[in-house]
Amino acid sequence: MASAPGWFEGTSLNTAVLVPAAGRGERLGPGAPKALRELGDIPMLVHAVRSLLAARGVTAVVVAAPPDGVAGVRDLLRAQLPAESPVWVVAGGATRQESVRFALAAVPADHDIVLVHDAARPFVPAHVVEAVIAAVADGADAVVPALPVVDTVKEVAAANGAETVVRTVDRSLLRAVQTPQGFRRAVLARAHAEADGFGAEGATDDAGMVERTGGTVVVVPGSEEAFKVTRPFDLLLARALLERRAERAAQARADEADGAAESTEIDVVR
Ligand code: C5P
Repeated sequence: MASAPGWFEGTSLNTAVLVPAAGRGERLGPGAPKALRELGDIPMLVHAVRSLLAARGVTAVVVAAPPDGVAGVRDLLRAQLPAESPVWVVAGGATRQESVRFALAAVPADHDIVLVHDAARPFVPAHVVEAVIAAVADGADAVVPALPVVDTVKEVAAANGAETVVRTVDRSLLRAVQTPQGFRRAVLARAHAEADGFGAEGATDDAGMVERTGGTVVVVPGSEEAFKVTRPFDLLLARALLERRAERAAQARADEADGAAESTEIDVVR
């Protein structure tokens, strides 16, 4: 694949996406590292990287692979992506945060916007990636895609081996945050450098580290299709989404073929 153009919505800034993919994914049950589990015969990581490369403005993807699987992940991506895809693979670390730090160190110098995307969100739509890039290009230090919370949320406390409710949280002020999260490169680098100072090892997201260093994090609309594959039930959802997309693609091809046939008929009539 030819490199995507850096130009996007009036910005000439290049965007690199870091993909931490070094987790074991134990909540998914026994098997290969989560990012390498297959959905429709294709590893989750490949779906994720394809989704990212489909977004305008993405000019590099850096994958943090399980440390004992770097060569395998490199071979896999080489086999599954078009030649010349702007994709690099580095060894991940013991925690997600460390994996992100290692991937950040490998970002080509001419990239000023850096996104971080979980391999476990294989079907993020291009418009979500593009909205995150656009908000960073517009001047935000950090950006997260998010959805309103649909369930009622309660804070609980453990008491005598059981849980009791402490209070009901106002869900209108809550958001479920997804990835990719976007940053000015220097902001992300500083957040990771300073994170060690307040013991954020094991942080579950990168925007959280920016919040703790006093930065402002802007929220843009996320998408249900950007859900995270975490538990076995999510695999069912992922496979259903894949089937729906395949049906839509087949329908689009059929419509296109009908359109081509119609225009040929018109030519014949003329
Ligand atoms: O476990 P969880 O779903 O929160 O992991 C989020 C992402 O972080 C996954 O894509 C996982 O592969 C990645 N990760 C990593 N390195 C680790 C642990 C998790 O890249 N050591």
